[in-house]
Amino acid sequence: MDASVHSTFASRYVRTSLPRFKMGENSIPKEAAYQIINDELMLDGNPRLNLASFVTTWMEPECDKLIMASINKNYVDMDEYPVTTELQNRCVNMIAHLFNAPLEDSEPAVGVGTVGSSEAIMLAGLAFKRKWQNRRKSEGKSCENPNIVTGANVQVCWEKFARYFEVELKEVKLRDGYYVMDPEKAAEMVDENTICVAAILGSTLNGEFEDVKRLNDLLVEKNAETGWDTPIHVDAASGGFIAPFLYPELVWDFRLSLVKSINVSGHKYGLVYAGIGWIIWRSKEDLPEELIFHINYLGADQPTFTLNFSKGSSQVIAQYYQLIRLGYEGYRNVMENCRDNMMVLKDGLEKTERFEIVSKDEGVPLVAFTLKDHNNFNEFQISDMLKRHGWIIPAYTMPPDAEHVTVLRVVIREDFSRTFAERLVIDITRVIHELDLVPSRVVSTNTITVTGGEEDADNDGTVTIANQSVLETQRKITTAWKKFVMNRKKTNGVC
Ligand SMILES: *Cc1c(COP(=O)(O)O)cnc(C)c1O
Repeated sequence: MDASVHSTFASRYVRTSLPRFKMGENSIPKEAAYQIINDELMLDGNPRLNLASFVTTWMEPECDKLIMASINKNYVDMDEYPVTTELQNRCVNMIAHLFNAPLEDSEPAVGVGTVGSSEAIMLAGLAFKRKWQNRRKSEGKSCENPNIVTGANVQVCWEKFARYFEVELKEVKLRDGYYVMDPEKAAEMVDENTICVAAILGSTLNGEFEDVKRLNDLLVEKNAETGWDTPIHVDAASGGFIAPFLYPELVWDFRLSLVKSINVSGHKYGLVYAGIGWIIWRSKEDLPEELIFHINYLGADQPTFTLNFSKGSSQVIAQYYQLIRLGYEGYRNVMENCRDNMMVLKDGLEKTERFEIVSKDEGVPLVAFTLKDHNNFNEFQISDMLKRHGWIIPAYTMPPDAEHVTVLRVVIREDFSRTFAERLVIDITRVIHELDLVPSRVVSTNTITVTGGEEDADNDGTVTIANQSVLETQRKITTAWKKFVMNRKKTNGVC
């Protein structure tokens, strides 16, 4: 293959080919560069129709303006940009209050803005690991084998944390019809080396909230019995900006004594474009001092605890915009609207009578659903066919021990309107009708051969239908499918 790409269209400006592996020797005009890149990007999906992602794809034009105005500001230059730093601190305070951190009215909260929940989770995990090590050392015990207990439904960033920072990940397995961490089983798995139990508020797979209160009760009991001090982290990447507005009575946050830190993605239901997350600690005592770097800018002590150094300021400013612009009322409106549109979609899918809904009404506004009947086609085919209508809807298999279940998932974001919900139901219905008409592979491989007469080998005069029964074939295909799915690594294309 040629190592470069030709662009006919840009020949108005340039006639050289575009480099793919090595930088070109010469410059090209800016108009050509723009045109070529802009054109190639047209082949990407439309972010607004990307229903696979929780991440924000629409903000108000006023906020877009603020973002563009600060696009050249490096967040880390805190001495140059003290106001930006101040805005991040205000965000930390507001979010900590939203999560009911035990703070006095004007007491500064403990937390930091991150690139996303992934960085936030690395920081939280490190704090737990260090606290556990310090405690073990002071007791003269081994710090060799730290572990963390989660459900098998955790987002991949927990697996990353475990591998990068050498902590064993102990996963509570799922089961048919129960797709979140069972708090009883999690508490059972805890041992003296457990640095924390991570609960998820809004499982990535089906949006369900895990029962953090039950987990807290169980661990309080276990800690009292054993003398351990196992804390809880809540991964509220998607649910952190939903629960406080839709379910204020739900007790999942710092109101629970063992919840020591919470992360949330500003770029999910915090309603900011990709690139921001938050980690909040219950109190100063929960963030070991030795992990904080003190940078002395112009004589002012600026404590930092992040994995990277430079990053953009735009998302921090955009988060502050959303928090003050929307307030409780605005966030509640957006979340209620998302929930209403989720119900429209869910009801529409139920009416087709072809799907079983595996998401819950209470949780992240998404609809996760699976086919009732897999005889003629599967969820991957539906996902594929929907692309032709412009919709990006992922299909994926559940983690162990529910890997034989495949679901389709539609995330409802602020910019997914009721019209979209209704339109999507129409398109999904159309797609299943189209698939109904396609002779499926299951049926076409099930050729019927009739033996007997001249071909009747044992010549007993009976005509036997030597084909496998339809049921048998289906069973074989299901087994093969399960094998295929179980041999695959965890590659959920969902975020
Ligand atoms: C999205 C998500 C993450 C990762 O968050 P990013 O902000 O994309 O880094 C972690 N945990 C859960 C539960 C999530 O939904």
